[in-house]
Amino acid sequence: MKIFLNGKLVDKSHATVSVFDHGLLYGDGVFEGIRSYGRLIFKLDEHLDRLFESAKAIELGMPMTRDELTKAVIKTLKANKLEDGYIRLVITRGAGDLGLDPRKCKAATVFIITDKIMFYPDEYYKRGLHVIIAKTKRNLKDALNPQIKSLNYLNNILGKIEAIKAGKEEAIMLSNEGYVAECTGENIFIVKDGMLFTPPPDIGALKGVTRLAVIGIAKKDKITVKEELIKPEDLYAADECFLTGTAAEIVSVTKIDEHVIGDGRSGKLTGKLLKEFRKLTKTEGVKY
Ligand code: PMP
Repeated sequence: MKIFLNGKLVDKSHATVSVFDHGLLYGDGVFEGIRSYGRLIFKLDEHLDRLFESAKAIELGMPMTRDELTKAVIKTLKANKLEDGYIRLVITRGAGDLGLDPRKCKAATVFIITDKIMFYPDEYYKRGLHVIIAKTKRNLKDALNPQIKSLNYLNNILGKIEAIKAGKEEAIMLSNEGYVAECTGENIFIVKDGMLFTPPPDIGALKGVTRLAVIGIAKKDKITVKEELIKPEDLYAADECFLTGTAAEIVSVTKIDEHVIGDGRSGKLTGKLLKEFRKLTKTEGVKY
């Protein structure tokens, strides 16, 4: 496997970074997870937009232009002969000293890993995920805004650990005020009376690329989409519930805590949206 590392393609065994890299020492960096389908990179522009916004939010000067990053992603995909791939694009603050001061990091580290996509088991899509509502709250917007896709994922990992301990697949994270924010690595939607509801990202959630694609599909299908504050009770009373993310695409949730959602099987509208989403991934994207 070839990895793009600071301008060069290197073998996986030589793709190493310094132990003084602040990405490693402090989670000081930003990243994106992107997918390609049949040699089409899905929503690359949207992912690059978010990457640059995240970098700006942490005052990380981007060492490469959008065009250079696009070329590097394509080069890495081609080197690994991937037609359908998962792309992990990472920019760290770079190597510095043991203090926090980012000015000590003279050059950002850039690496791109492309690999085969790891699918969730098919069963998850049929029976849906069983999830909990985590006790760990999503990061406060005014402390570490969840809209920044930074390398600091401990908040999400603590939520994931709760899910694992409970023997469930995912955890829904609430804002400090108790409103539904998102899952540890996906956005969340509910279906009620034929309408779609999803939390506004301002509550403290990542502006998911898949989330936006799903909203676009729904609007085209004349399905009402409302970005509204959602409480746990609204989740329990939903007709359907699903999560969206680059890796998961659209995956049903059929049990939240002890509450069965709908009839306990993946819902009709969820299935229809997934079908249309998959159609989209086959027809649009940056060709390589
Ligand atoms: N929320 C979080 C915390 C995530 O890490 C992700 C996946 N990167 C998402 C939502 C979904 O975003 P996207 O659809 O852009 O993959």
